[in-house]
Amino acid sequence: MGRRTGARAGGDGLEARAIAAVRRALLRWYARTARDLPWRRAPDPYRVWVSETMLQQTQVERVCDAFGRFLDSFPTVAALAAAEESAVLRAWEGLGYYRRARQLHAAARVVVAEHGGRLPEDDGALRRLPGIGRYTAGAIRSIALGQPAPIVEANSRRVLARLAGHRAEVGGAADEPLWQVAARLVPPQGAGAFNQALMDLGATVCTPRAPRCTRCPLLGHCRAHAGGLTGSIPRLPRPRAAEVREETALVIRHAEHVLVEQRRPGEWWEGLWDFPRLPASGLAGLRPGRPHEIGRIVYTVTHHRITLRVVVRRAARRTRLAPPRAWVSVADLAGLALSSPGRRIARMLADDGTEPPPRRRSRYVPAPGTTSSSAREKKRA
Ligand code: SF4
Repeated sequence: MGRRTGARAGGDGLEARAIAAVRRALLRWYARTARDLPWRRAPDPYRVWVSETMLQQTQVERVCDAFGRFLDSFPTVAALAAAEESAVLRAWEGLGYYRRARQLHAAARVVVAEHGGRLPEDDGALRRLPGIGRYTAGAIRSIALGQPAPIVEANSRRVLARLAGHRAEVGGAADEPLWQVAARLVPPQGAGAFNQALMDLGATVCTPRAPRCTRCPLLGHCRAHAGGLTGSIPRLPRPRAAEVREETALVIRHAEHVLVEQRRPGEWWEGLWDFPRLPASGLAGLRPGRPHEIGRIVYTVTHHRITLRVVVRRAARRTRLAPPRAWVSVADLAGLALSSPGRRIARMLADDGTEPPPRRRSRYVPAPGTTSSSAREKKRA
């Protein structure tokens, strides 16, 4: 990165003059181009914490939709701590990876119980809270508190790796050299703007494929660009091959009610409601009638690609059910914290479960023999 001038350089080859130039260039660029994102308007520790937790593995556009809704429901740490878990999960719908919501909720209760309702300001105390790791702690400390804390996440990692010409594989523990680069680059003043600039640059200019180097404020400092290595840096681990599965969801229906069950600890969508999957035990007493397929849903969860057949069976009666199963009216499904495929099945039922209405045709694949359509929605639990 830059030519050596005799100034002190670290093991990553960064020298003091180059570091100062990178900081200046990036901060100037950010002052001109910063994205107007809802959580940036009043970046207090709680808002930064919630937004950064949402942004882990979820696209910015989706987080923009969900952030305001979540803050309306839980405007403070205390409000989040006092909420029922089901309400938190309901507010998290659309973001996926619900473990983050559960951890956010659990951490809010610790903050209220042990820190008087204020997020702690030091790295160690932050990282002892459920769900807060090195990156989230660094984001809270730099963006909300102005501390010179480094961050490395998907976008900044790509920028840092290219800037430093880091050819080794990245990800997990292998990111340690990039954390060191980030720590040397983050300025003592303006750390929050600098870190957000790194992330914005990765999101909008230093993109995974075809980075727009001619528009990059770091062009003159970038080793990957100088060496023609932007196509091979960062070197990511090979993705796990998708495992293809077929499953059947069972909608047991009696008049306007359907049977739902809450996902158990350790299952995908833990704590959320869903429709039973076959083989389902304990349903014999319902004496359900012949199955009738109403459609298919295709979705991805972790590295599994699942085609879910949705069948409806009419129950002869509405028997008493023990938790985690319950009867819910089709109308009340809208207010229930449902898994992602469960929500899609609920929409099919609301649409009468026969033909997809034109507006929603892409949401699911109709049953064989009905209207043909293809649909794919990448969802994560
Ligand atoms: S010059 Fe190109 S590769 Fe280097 S940081 Fe800028 S956009 Fe990324």
